[in-house]
Amino acid sequence: MAFIYSMPTDIYFGRDVILKNDEAFSKFGSRALVVTGKRSAKKNGSYDDIKQVLANTGIDHILFDEVEENPSLETIEKGRQVGVQKRVDFIIGIGGGSAMDAAKAIAVFIKNPELNMDNIFEQGELDSIPVIAVATTSGTGSEVTQYSIVTSNKEKTKKNLGQKVFPKLAFLDSKYTHDLPYDITVNTAIDAFTHLVEGYLNTNSSYMSDIYGEKGFELFKYCFKKLLDKDLDQEFRERVMLASTLAGIQISQTGTSLPHGMGYPLTYYKGLPHGLANGVLTMEYLKSFKDKAKIDRMLALLGLDKLCDLESILTRLIDVKLDINEDEIYEYSRAFVSNKAKLKNHTEKVGLEDIIAIYKRSLL
Ligand code: NAP
Ligand code: ZN
Repeated sequence: MAFIYSMPTDIYFGRDVILKNDEAFSKFGSRALVVTGKRSAKKNGSYDDIKQVLANTGIDHILFDEVEENPSLETIEKGRQVGVQKRVDFIIGIGGGSAMDAAKAIAVFIKNPELNMDNIFEQGELDSIPVIAVATTSGTGSEVTQYSIVTSNKEKTKKNLGQKVFPKLAFLDSKYTHDLPYDITVNTAIDAFTHLVEGYLNTNSSYMSDIYGEKGFELFKYCFKKLLDKDLDQEFRERVMLASTLAGIQISQTGTSLPHGMGYPLTYYKGLPHGLANGVLTMEYLKSFKDKAKIDRMLALLGLDKLCDLESILTRLIDVKLDINEDEIYEYSRAFVSNKAKLKNHTEKVGLEDIIAIYKRSLL
């Protein structure tokens, strides 16, 4: 057995965890850029808690609340401009994956003044100013991953920034998710579930990463039932947040695989939310495996007998009707098979025809 395991993010999980740990903020400097989406952080109490802690510790802050879903490099350059102008020392990203990923990218751009949206993908490893992440969806796991997924309008796709920006601290308090609407709760939970699946069935999976995956599946046995019953109580909110963070730790070690890479054009061109874009492809991806041993283990942890039991859960949760044709599928498939990084993470050999088949069976 061999593995490398590294998780440099300090994780704070639980009720009022920000307010109870204000000393954790002091070591990063005297001025922070707080990066959020347009509305939710001001409504769900997360920005209030951060403001309180920054006031307690004498840290100034500037708010950049312009991050859109699937953040664009244009927005990231704008955030950098604000941060540089105000000479911030560190960044606090509050929100779903979009705000946290934007925070990470802005932190790289602030540290490296020569960077711009045209040269970012040609860089070697770059440093960033420190990032603190506060997750308000459950979710992407971005609070514990090194990835920052951005939208490149020039390349007409979403892609990983290609830099490793682990947040220094991750704060997880499920109270911020209590008013998350049912549809966003489902979409983001499906994202977390697909992380567990793609991290578990991954060339890079190891004994260590599987620990997180298997605990995550156990939690999803409970979470799927609560989602189907639409019974989103405090216990559910806490457990799904934990599952999402475990999944994030897992994919920080393994990366994701086919559904994530194949889902990006469905988000870019068809506007499908990230979790649904992966989720709608997951069943056909799972069915395509020749070796089902690990899938059987996953099903057992989910308390299910057969793949069709999982299919009936996902079918009840995911209702996607896309206006898409065969030419578009062919185009997405061709682009995807050139994505060697994602193909490499898949444990079995697949080619263009296999990818086309997964898209077609899932979407037509
Ligand atoms: P999101 O795009 O961050 O947010 C979706 C919506 O939910 C937004 O309208 C947001 O509003 C709202 N929202 C967020 N928190 C809320 C709350 N507590 N209550 C009510 N509404 C709330 O969604 P996401 O699924 O969390 O993130 C998706 C992004 O993460 C994608 O770009 C995806 O590619 C990326 N991702 C990154 C990783 C990684 O490891 N870095 C992994 C998976 C996915 P506001 O805009 O007003 O905040
Ligand atoms: Zn994802």
